[in-house]
Amino acid sequence: MKLKGKVCIVTGSASGIGLAIARRYVAEGAFVAIADLRLDAAEATAAELTAKGPGEAIGLAMDVTSEEAVNAGVAAVVGKWGRVDVMVSNAGIQIVHRIEDFPFADWKKMLSIHLDGAFLTTKACMPHMKAQKGGAIIYMGSVHSHEASPLKSAYVTAKHGLLGLARVVAKEGGPHGVRANVICPGFVKTPLVEKQIPEQAKALGISEEEVVRKMMLSGTVDTEFTTVEDVAEVALLFAGFETNALTGQSLVVSHGWYMQ
Ligand code: NAD
Repeated sequence: MKLKGKVCIVTGSASGIGLAIARRYVAEGAFVAIADLRLDAAEATAAELTAKGPGEAIGLAMDVTSEEAVNAGVAAVVGKWGRVDVMVSNAGIQIVHRIEDFPFADWKKMLSIHLDGAFLTTKACMPHMKAQKGGAIIYMGSVHSHEASPLKSAYVTAKHGLLGLARVVAKEGGPHGVRANVICPGFVKTPLVEKQIPEQAKALGISEEEVVRKMMLSGTVDTEFTTVEDVAEVALLFAGFETNALTGQSLVVSHGWYMQ
């Protein structure tokens, strides 16, 4: 077991990619907090993962845009399990509009969930990780941390920003054994992407099938979606990689859509 006894927090893990990461971590023996806006879903997920073991999971109510909620959640995890080894800052949403139509409130909401969330979770975990002399902070970036697509100004801006934050955390954390990495998935068929398909079809005046074939998967080597399991495997690699050798790096997991 690669994460036996490691204490992990995964934000936005009641659904999609975060859920797959939590499942993979528990299967590797970790203690995992399922931190999500939706407490009911987080608790149901935690019960399901704990039943399978060999690790354990708990559900935690957390809005990653609230400093109080993030601090309280991290404190609850440290209170229960005594430490925090891995923070996966994964919670995210998507809002698409052309720039001239992008409501400023939606722009701010996007930057708040993706960037404030990453900052606040990092800030709350850093003192514990430094005191323990080790830890891993993993940000959920995207191919859009390196590439751009129309309609996604806020998302692309936020996901690019995570690369910068990870590099600073790598430099500040390095002397204390605290590593930082960014995972950059291509399109993964989760509720976040299911929602985008009809929205993009409407905005671009094309069919939903064309959105998938021409916009989402045309650049891949096999016209396939990246899977939640593909992403969870990379999250396991970064969580378990104990030296600073990979710190500050992003890894694209996209079926060849974007090659670094
Ligand atoms: P999802 O919609 O399936 O899951 C997102 C989860 O985040 C949900 O459980 C939701 O309740 C939670 N959440 C939303 N706002 C929150 C908040 N303020 N505080 C706490 N939790 C919150 O989405 P997903 O596709 O699994 O996306 C997860 C991450 O992966 C996001 O950061 C997303 O940008 C990134 N990503 C997704 C894809 C993709 O194709 N699906 C590709 C690249 C990157």
